[in-house]
Amino acid sequence: MDWKKKLYHILSVPPLVEEPMSKHTSLRIGGPAEFLVSPQSAAELQNLIEMAFQYAVPLFVLGQGTNLLVSDRGLRGIVVSLSGFCSTYEFLEGGLLKAGAAVSLFKLCQAAAGKGLGGLEFATGIPGSMGGALYMNAGAYGSSMSNLIREVTTIDLRGKRCVRPVEELKFDYRWSSFQDEEVIILEGLLALTPGDREKILARTAEVLNDRQAKHPHLPNAGSVFRNPPGRPAGKLIEQAGAKGLAVGDAQVSLQHGNFIVNKGRATASDVLKLIAMVKEKVKEKFDLDLALEIKVIGENGSKQGRR
Ligand SMILES: Cc1cc2nc3c(=O)[nH]c(=O)nc-3n(C[C@H](O)[C@H](O)[C@H](O)COP(=O)(O)OP(=O)(O)OC[C@H]3O[C@@H](n4cnc5c(N)ncnc54)[C@H](O)[C@@H]3O)c2cc1C
Repeated sequence: MDWKKKLYHILSVPPLVEEPMSKHTSLRIGGPAEFLVSPQSAAELQNLIEMAFQYAVPLFVLGQGTNLLVSDRGLRGIVVSLSGFCSTYEFLEGGLLKAGAAVSLFKLCQAAAGKGLGGLEFATGIPGSMGGALYMNAGAYGSSMSNLIREVTTIDLRGKRCVRPVEELKFDYRWSSFQDEEVIILEGLLALTPGDREKILARTAEVLNDRQAKHPHLPNAGSVFRNPPGRPAGKLIEQAGAKGLAVGDAQVSLQHGNFIVNKGRATASDVLKLIAMVKEKVKEKFDLDLALEIKVIGENGSKQGRR
């Protein structure tokens, strides 16, 4: 039996076949995923991973697709969503919050604030999932997920599950050691700080309002480039005269220089051309090479998946 047939035996919910990734990314761009699957239990995921390993099928883990540029030709192999079984969270004694990888970060921020637990206010309004936030070490307003992580549960591509204490993990600006590994994050344990509920709620609302005022409302994938040390990429892009540049329906946002928006029918190829133009302008003006923060994936992209 080939791996495609096996897939149907393993999964209780049939896979989506040639599923447009544009439906699963905040940029609304991306060609088809050969198979998009949603295992309904840890056992199904385990079987899926073992099958993929045995047949050398590429696996890509999708969070909420808010930091991704998926190529127009899409992704071969299997794209895995964990929303079928990693979608719950619970508060534990001592300000601990245990959350599945597929829970939305927004939901966690609201729940923590409602309980009078501080620490996650900075993340209010960062779109995406808990798993994506841990993988990217999502951050804003001077804080990031690494300040809260106690431990993370992962499963590797041979099906080995591990609970990893924070001491064994590494984090940096928009980087975690998971980015150098081949693992799927299943859940995380965050240490929050009990505080004044009204103050935490007020700060949460303030952060949310600030973000809504600053960020463009057209489809986008957040900051395209990493900030070079001490210099916001958005300002450099603006000063290099790249704000408003466009290729097809992809445009450097007029509101924020570090965002590229999709005005309707932009393709990944439009965005990649625009990225190259922005980099060139910044290089010319400041002799500085901007590095990407968004993850470019898929055929013709930098990385097809995790193996
Ligand atoms: C309007 C807007 C504003 C944003 N603002 C911010 C901001 O202020 N700060 C910030 O840091 N980011 C920001 N982002 C970027 C993005 O929201 C974060 O990077 C977020 O953490 C990505 O989560 P996700 O679930 O969408 O991940 P995805 O985009 O789906 O995936 C991102 C990467 O994480 C990997 N991944 C996801 N889940 C798992 C898992 N369970 N196990 C292993 N790997 C996994 C994927 O394979 C991929 O490589 C913004 C994005 C948008 C659209």
